[in-house]
Amino acid sequence: MQKDKVLRVGFDLDGVLLYNPARILRPFAQFLRPFIFRKKSRKFYFPNTRIEKIVWRLLHKSSMWIAPGMKDILELAKEKKIEAYIITARYDFLKHDFEGWVKKIDGSKLFTGHHYNITNQQPHLYKEHMIEKLDLDIFVEDNWGIVQHLSKQFKTKVKVFWIYNIFDKNINYTYKFPTLKNVAEWLKKNT
Ligand SMILES: [Mg+2]
Repeated sequence: MQKDKVLRVGFDLDGVLLYNPARILRPFAQFLRPFIFRKKSRKFYFPNTRIEKIVWRLLHKSSMWIAPGMKDILELAKEKKIEAYIITARYDFLKHDFEGWVKKIDGSKLFTGHHYNITNQQPHLYKEHMIEKLDLDIFVEDNWGIVQHLSKQFKTKVKVFWIYNIFDKNINYTYKFPTLKNVAEWLKKNT
């Protein structure tokens, strides 16, 4: 990586910039799995009915806290060591909640851009498209299915960082990090 180039880094929202305590409860995560990624069809679930949308909103309400490490990310952006983007595949009907979080996270407007999935594309395809469009060097993601898809698509062109949870700690992957704080430390060392 060249030192003179500002790294363009995209951050997923849920599970990356926002800490979701529900992720560490295994039975709950197990229960959610079919809703999150259908392995066979490699398709994500899209909530269609009103009731499904309400449940979906509630699930996203469980992203409750800004992740520790956020301060360091903002610092890196402020010092122009990175150009930071928020890229979430949240669907259009979560717009309101998304904008609320953007205000909370980036009140001082240090991120270069905030993007969500306004046309309701499949999450992994949406992220692939945005990484390409914004010409990112690094993308930070917590969903292993999406990490696998993106790292396969981009090979060495884009580093896909994975924030894993404790149950996935045995999976072998080069750029795996336990928390956002560890990602920030890597960025500090490498920018
Ligand atoms: Mg996520």
